[in-house]
Amino acid sequence: MGFRLYNTLTRSLEDFEPTSPDKVGMYCCGPTVYNYAHIGNLRTYIFEDLLRRTLEMAGYEVYHVMNVTDVGHLTDDADDGEDKMERSAREMKRSVWDIAAFFTERFFEDTQKLNIVEPSVCCKATDHVPQMIELIETLERGGYTYVAGGNVYFDIAKFPEYGKLALLDLEELKAGARIEVDANKRNPHDFVLWFTRSKFEHQSMLWDSPWGRGYPGWHIECSAMSLHYLGDQFDIHCGGIDHISVHHTNEIAQTEAATGKPWVKYWVHGEFLVMDSGKMSKSRGGFLTLAKLEDEGFDPLDYRYFCLGGHYRTQLQFSFESLQASQNARHKLMERIAQLRREAGDAAEAVSADWSGGYATAFRENLCDDLNTSRGLAELWGLLKDHSLPAIDRLRQVAAMDQVLGLRLLDVAEESEDTDLAAEVASLIAERAAARANRDFSRADSIRDELVARGIVLEDRPDGTIWKKMRKSL
Ligand code: AMP
Ligand code: ZN
Repeated sequence: MGFRLYNTLTRSLEDFEPTSPDKVGMYCCGPTVYNYAHIGNLRTYIFEDLLRRTLEMAGYEVYHVMNVTDVGHLTDDADDGEDKMERSAREMKRSVWDIAAFFTERFFEDTQKLNIVEPSVCCKATDHVPQMIELIETLERGGYTYVAGGNVYFDIAKFPEYGKLALLDLEELKAGARIEVDANKRNPHDFVLWFTRSKFEHQSMLWDSPWGRGYPGWHIECSAMSLHYLGDQFDIHCGGIDHISVHHTNEIAQTEAATGKPWVKYWVHGEFLVMDSGKMSKSRGGFLTLAKLEDEGFDPLDYRYFCLGGHYRTQLQFSFESLQASQNARHKLMERIAQLRREAGDAAEAVSADWSGGYATAFRENLCDDLNTSRGLAELWGLLKDHSLPAIDRLRQVAAMDQVLGLRLLDVAEESEDTDLAAEVASLIAERAAARANRDFSRADSIRDELVARGIVLEDRPDGTIWKKMRKSL
């Protein structure tokens, strides 16, 4: 089946044709592990997971590589500010290595809860410094670098195609360049490949290099690791749209300068999740994490469903009201599937995916059309409402669609456990309301205490009592 994908490089929808017929190499810029991932970051990883699953549905074997940035990412993508990891370590009074290990673990906990398939390779920047040094040496031999103030810079004047991904007009940029903070740069868009102590005196992650003891720039990490795991030319490189103008632009310049070949065929970018108050940012604080959504009584899969409701190239506005609507919809979906299982009886025990049905086929066509998830979900709902088909046939098509949606639609054990709990808590809340109406406050309090002991807190609101599961603190 054909697969169409929007390529940022050409600003058009293209028929996907990988370099080798059935295999796809895909690199995704991973998290900078100086803090928890916020739900905006997680939207990007859900989109990349969806892309991977769709490619697999389309019959490709996907080699998915994701890095973990644990050194070198400054607070400004264009070399300004200080190292995010160092700053976080100082603020939290822990070593940079501890910070990196702690937030890497938290990140993978989140992605697991969101049912994001683990990449084929997850590689840490700090484990690949020799590859980065080697790449900088290649660039140096090719005449693409200069050393100034102790740092090694990439000289964009030597790479005439600089800015092709972001459609940057260099003449225009030069004319309107802001006052440059780094006086060592020949051109404001030159970027650091290797920092030495000359820039940051208190850097604790340092490596020996031909240019002195120091550490790599952020952009070189992704080029070095993707070249290492995926070779000189591969199919897909992903990230959020904020990466187009600096990070990916610089990655292309240094990689193509080093190899002398066109590098990635398809550049695919996910739009941002935005809040009512504007952009969500990890470094500015005040961001929402998955843990916060759980504290508010949502399942991580409610958030996954919420993200799938919008197209990856469209901004998604987050609000708790919209998330509530997604939760309601997902619960309804699970109820209908539970009903189908009852109708199908024993046959429901081992349901295998069937892509040949009409709804599954339409679903597949929509997903293969630049990941049209909202139309894909409409097919799922259509299937569940279509009583003309036998229950088991419908379940088989649900199983197929869920391979891509990743909503654990057939995970009955977990859901029925939740449903049982919900029913029990609802009956205790009703009993407590009745006790309070009868002024039997000791019974009302003992019900509340009993629930707290089981990790459930009640919150009395003007329109009734709601409950939440308490989280263990990290
Ligand atoms: P970082 O950990 O800051 O390097 O970001 C990880 C990923 O999240 C990158 O692909 C970013 O482009 C992406 N990202 C950052 N902010 C948002 C947002 N508000 N919505 C969606 N993706 C985002
Ligand atoms: Zn990257």
